[in-house]
Amino acid sequence: MLALLAVGLAGKAVADSVSLDAMLTKLAPPPSGQALSHIPDPGRKLLALRSYVRYGAKIADRWSWTKEQIKAFDGSPEHQALLAEIAAVSKHFRAANPGYEIYVHGTVRSLDEQLANWNKNDSVREGAEEILAAYKAAFGEDGLEPAKIDVQRLAAWLRDFKPSKRASLAAPGLTLHGRASAIDFQVMKDGRIYAGANSKQLESVWRAEGWDRRLKASMEAVGPSFFGPLTDPDEPWHYDYAPSPAATASN
Ligand SMILES: [Zn+2]
Repeated sequence: MLALLAVGLAGKAVADSVSLDAMLTKLAPPPSGQALSHIPDPGRKLLALRSYVRYGAKIADRWSWTKEQIKAFDGSPEHQALLAEIAAVSKHFRAANPGYEIYVHGTVRSLDEQLANWNKNDSVREGAEEILAAYKAAFGEDGLEPAKIDVQRLAAWLRDFKPSKRASLAAPGLTLHGRASAIDFQVMKDGRIYAGANSKQLESVWRAEGWDRRLKASMEAVGPSFFGPLTDPDEPWHYDYAPSPAATASN
């Protein structure tokens, strides 16, 4: 009580957001709760939590690697097999498309990197504004005062909420890039990204100039462990990586 009386108007918002955090974290299936604490914006937090709640308990099988797991992968035979297949695709692509090169940014996207992207990405901001407005409409402006909210009702609401437009990123922890199971292949020319992993270039560059087809042709020729590209959302640069167990065992 004393603490409550002590906080002024400015302090009240802070106190509420702290307990809102606690309530939302309670809804997050492990290990996703930890990621939420690194998303300060309430709308972005709700949008991520929506994905976490929808995965439920099976989220652990999909969750991004820890720093230790990334370190263990680095230089391993599995890592070398991945790099060799990327190199084969790059070589084929370069020969088929003189003047153009493949650029791949790393092979594992850390959770820190995913969080930083989530916290600044524009398509996430649009989704965040939409879900926060809907949340306030459903739970009242008081929705930010969690003592008044039934946690199970909020969980059900999150599961059912349908954003009108999909964010161009998976919620932090949920991308296959976080466990070396997906690679984005960008096209480079004269040392610069020419066709990037960027939805703004989807029609104007990837489709109009046929880079989707050209990349696919290299995959079909020399990338047996790459599957794709991703179609939902539409990302011609994104291929899942799933080496057959036999290929790894033969090393
Ligand atoms: Zn991707």
